[in-house]
Amino acid sequence: MNAPIPHDSARLTLMLNELRLPTIGRLWPEFAQRADKEGWQATRLLGALLEHELAERAKRRIERHRTESRLDPTKTLATFDFSMVPMVSKAHVMALATGDAWLEKGANVLVFGPPGGGKSHLGSAIGHSLIDAGYRVLFTRTSELVQKLQAARQSLQLPATLAKLDRFDLIILDDLSYARKDQAETSVLFELIAERYERRSLLITANQPFSGWENVFPDPGMTIAAIDRLVHHSTIFEMNVESYRRRTATDKQSSRRQSSSDNDSHDDNDEGGGATTMTP
Ligand code: ADP
Ligand code: MG
Repeated sequence: MNAPIPHDSARLTLMLNELRLPTIGRLWPEFAQRADKEGWQATRLLGALLEHELAERAKRRIERHRTESRLDPTKTLATFDFSMVPMVSKAHVMALATGDAWLEKGANVLVFGPPGGGKSHLGSAIGHSLIDAGYRVLFTRTSELVQKLQAARQSLQLPATLAKLDRFDLIILDDLSYARKDQAETSVLFELIAERYERRSLLITANQPFSGWENVFPDPGMTIAAIDRLVHHSTIFEMNVESYRRRTATDKQSSRRQSSSDNDSHDDNDEGGGATTMTP
């Protein structure tokens, strides 16, 4: 047997830094010691170190994607109570949450319902799962993105800005119904929709279904063209439930004073919670 080749561990550390292999840099002394003691084959040692580096790298990438997504970290599938929205198929949501086919063909998800029903939460939850599955997601209020795109248009950067957004497999446009106002603003929204059509997915939440969208786009022709592209390949969830906050507040109240449930149930502005529609 040859004597072991002496290694300069400081030099190893330098080389691993240079190669940007921090996990191997951290693990190799312990692994090398074990390998020597237990008589591992060299390939086993090398393989184990590389596997760890790759696993850490994947983890860091997902962390970066989560940060860039601007998703609320608390709005996940784990914290979403499906029993509150019986018209939404959990199995269908779970299937969407894995990504794959629908993201690959640039299909969309549209979530409608009155305020407080859980649209943003559901959209975020799907976003988090897609990030876990390795996809890139951006969550943004529609009005914010519209402003950003309009600024880009003014400085003649719209195509470049749209191209940059292409890195996201999914853009969640939260609260489409609030994006409106002047023509220039809203036509950038149309340009985003047209640009991503059949290539990159959108998930849109809106308080009003299509009938209320004539306020969102500058003219009826553009409204129809936008809706046409959005629904062509899409899943639509209609969450016609009463506000979650109001319901949970009501539940607490009624469990405190059990006999007065008739006082709680006729809320002003009740949108008829419980209507069940879901168009695949
Ligand atoms: P919307 O976007 O439809 O106005 P949100 O998603 O913002 O409603 O929901 C309002 C609040 O109620 C949020 O804090 C959300 O986390 C919570 N919420 C709504 N629906 C559910 C649900 N099914 N399970 C758990 N929390 C919910
Ligand atoms: Mg919302």
